[in-house]
Amino acid sequence: QAKRQGKSSYAHFTPEMSEVSHERLQMESRMRRALELNEFELYFQPIVKTATGKVHAVEALLRWNNPAMGMIMPDRFIPLAEETGLIIAIGEWVLEQACLAATGWRAITGRDIGISVNVSPRQFRDSGFINAVMRALSNNDLAPQLLELEITERLLLDNSIETAEILRELDRAGIRLSVDDFGTGYSALSYLKSYPFDTLKIDRTFINDVTKTQGGGSLVRAIINMAHSLGLTIIAEGVEEEAQTLFLKQEGCDMSQGYFYSRPLPAGEFNEWLNTNHQTQT
Ligand code: C2E
Ligand code: MG
Ligand code: MG
Ligand code: MG
Repeated sequence: QAKRQGKSSYAHFTPEMSEVSHERLQMESRMRRALELNEFELYFQPIVKTATGKVHAVEALLRWNNPAMGMIMPDRFIPLAEETGLIIAIGEWVLEQACLAATGWRAITGRDIGISVNVSPRQFRDSGFINAVMRALSNNDLAPQLLELEITERLLLDNSIETAEILRELDRAGIRLSVDDFGTGYSALSYLKSYPFDTLKIDRTFINDVTKTQGGGSLVRAIINMAHSLGLTIIAEGVEEEAQTLFLKQEGCDMSQGYFYSRPLPAGEFNEWLNTNHQTQT
């Protein structure tokens, strides 16, 4: 009896486990070929000036189009890309394509539009990272001031000298640095003084609370004021409703990003959006 039970629970356990690891292995091998098969694509989402709704910069957001799996969102494949180290090659591709795209927007609007690129910890710590960034800029003749690298607070948790040095070197080169998902990953704020950040992106969970709770608004107001007193630019992420834009305008939030203005769009559609936004009078 006991033997039978053991066997059946074993039989129940194994196929599920092997299915998961099989899926993982399959995804990993597909990801290894995705770059050469040209399956990655950048989507673009505008970051607008809160006061006017006019585009200020653009965030590049990665998508993976795989014939067998369809379009895969970054939250589903970035972690595996990190674990396997593939993020280093993928990240270089993203930097290159993002800088290339940014050079085209000037032709549409007649002025400089910045590009923001997400960087994950493994990529950031790779010894070739700074060179990859510089190469992407020079290959595309893009001014370093137009590139902003988005880093999450998690990266700063290790408190390492190396992290601080990489940030300082990027800063010295004129590249802008931002803290992505601000408020979700780290409780101490002292790092804001010791590292050369230019921008804080308030996580969308806080923006979501603005119109729903009294305290939510107070928290966002406090973050905006703190950022400004430290000389940082502030971006609200995940702005979806007009009521949120009114609050953010009133509180002097510099920039906004979210579905209210535009979803992330593929290059062609984004250029159309840019063209319209550029011509709209405010
Ligand atoms: P993130 O950098 O915080 O990017 C913002 C995410 O919020 C994007 O999700 C965007 O589509 C979504 N979003 C924008 N506006 C709204 C809104 O109004 N409401 C809601 N609910 N969501 C909104 P996405 O594109 O799925 O990317 C998820 C995360 O994947 C990014 O979060 C970033 O951490 C990572 N990621 C994306 N592209 C790259 C990349 O090229 N390299 C690396 N390392 N990570 C990337
Ligand atoms: Mg980001
Ligand atoms: Mg700087
Ligand atoms: Mg974010």
